[in-house]
Amino acid sequence: MLFSKLLIPTLKEAPSDADIVSAKLMVRSGMIRKLASGFYEILPLGLKALRKIENIIRQELNAVGGQEMVLPLIFPKELWLETGRWSVYGKELFRLKDRKDAEFCLAPTAEEAIVDLIRKNIRSYKQLPIMLYQFGIKFRDEIRPRFGVMRSREFLMKDAYSFHVDEGDLDKYYKIMFDAYINICRRCGFKFCAVEAASGAIGGSFSHEFMVLANSGEEDIVWCKCGYSANSQKAESLKIEQLKEEFLSMTEVFTPNIGSVDDVAKFLSLSPDKFIKTMVYIADGNPIAVLVRGDHEVNEVKLKLLLNVSDLALADGQIVVSITGAPVGFMGPFGLKNIKIVADLSVVDIPNAVVGANKKDYHIKNVNYRRDYNVDLVADIRRIKHDDVCPRCKQEKLRFSRGIEIGHTFKLGTKYSKSMNAVYLDSNGKEKPIVMGCYGIGVTRILAATIEQSHDEDGIIWPESIAPFEVTIVPIDYADLRIKNVTDKVCEELSRKGLDVLIDDRDERAGVKFKDADLVGSPYRITIGEKNLINGNVELKSRRDKSSRCLKPEAAVSEILEIFPR
Ligand SMILES: [Zn+2]
Repeated sequence: MLFSKLLIPTLKEAPSDADIVSAKLMVRSGMIRKLASGFYEILPLGLKALRKIENIIRQELNAVGGQEMVLPLIFPKELWLETGRWSVYGKELFRLKDRKDAEFCLAPTAEEAIVDLIRKNIRSYKQLPIMLYQFGIKFRDEIRPRFGVMRSREFLMKDAYSFHVDEGDLDKYYKIMFDAYINICRRCGFKFCAVEAASGAIGGSFSHEFMVLANSGEEDIVWCKCGYSANSQKAESLKIEQLKEEFLSMTEVFTPNIGSVDDVAKFLSLSPDKFIKTMVYIADGNPIAVLVRGDHEVNEVKLKLLLNVSDLALADGQIVVSITGAPVGFMGPFGLKNIKIVADLSVVDIPNAVVGANKKDYHIKNVNYRRDYNVDLVADIRRIKHDDVCPRCKQEKLRFSRGIEIGHTFKLGTKYSKSMNAVYLDSNGKEKPIVMGCYGIGVTRILAATIEQSHDEDGIIWPESIAPFEVTIVPIDYADLRIKNVTDKVCEELSRKGLDVLIDDRDERAGVKFKDADLVGSPYRITIGEKNLINGNVELKSRRDKSSRCLKPEAAVSEILEIFPR
């Protein structure tokens, strides 16, 4: 492919609204252009990489029995009413009406459509299991589109759905899909980890996120040398053992206008881990008191799952006063009537704890569980923090990294099949709900994640498996016949073996061409110029380690063909 003929509008500077490295480099290297906020045009260079990623995914999914198909991008409202997601999905759902005023939405995921297809076409256990997948454009009306194609309003996603006779069969297949995802991440050249995750809006009982490790990632991951890893929102915390102390008698202390744990701790010369924080939440309309240690934070994702509620928020000051009799800062677990109390694992063992007195400007010292207060439920409801010990091996300290989520797998169970009545007949002719799994990969997001993880100050460094062009040839002067002949010959030999080769045939200075070659990021560059040709040589340079050597054109070709066997 000739550079001069390709629509590859490289730029020296990134546009001012490109907010992360990948967004800057994708625009600068001519892979994408922005049409409107959150909507991008994928130019030929970007599409070449996207198609290579697609092919890796397709090969791995076909290998585990996946059947590719295509669903519409527009879904009728009626289907979404069946699952309740028409209202649950909220403002992220793009909605539209046709000329007859019938309502539709643009696909953000496709559970409803695929379950509708399955319930109309699967009758018997003999037709199960089955896995269907598609590559399809998805739409989400992000409140603040940002990070280029990473958080855009339209993106390419691979979504897959599997259907089973029971949970046991889903479990087996889930493991197979998990391994396929590991293969996909490896083949894309990622440093990644698969973490246990909270299920979020899609629902279901169990899920994993596939995270590409990058400092610019939006997600916090915790992991341990022993192999444990989790999204920090899901990460389990251990009960922290406390030193035993003799129980002292309770004392009320005057703490004028001092409400925060840190301030009271300073005032009383005690460490924050001697404190119990009491908070009032409203969970699906009902108030609930929540206790965590003074130096811990409530994990609202865990709390929601524990209480099995969909709506959870801190109660406002007025409600707090009406329930506890005290303003925020002076609440405690004492004498709370008609309200359920949930305590974190590490709360109930604190000996001689300090709590709010449920009276303005007062705290109480030397409070002990069971002697002085009781709770309804003790569970892991706190956020993981630095210095916490791994919940699996119980030895190592957890480590924290940041990641970009590129894939997500869910065991959905019967969530969708029950609400949409997708059933099959078992071997006894009895009707049963179909058990379901779903598996997504953000294909456009992989492009951005790759670049976040693999770039330097000069531009993109493509992994060999998904580079738009495996080789860029830079003829110093393409008008020089001798140079042109060698260039064309090298290009032809590489192309014949199925490699994508870019020839920078432009009438530009060598420096400009080198800069663009680094920016576009092909794994290998072959430079062909007068100086080396005198000895019959060309220069072969690796983009990743910047090493270069002079060698005969045939030797350069065979080295590259060894790296990219076809
Ligand atoms: Zn561990």
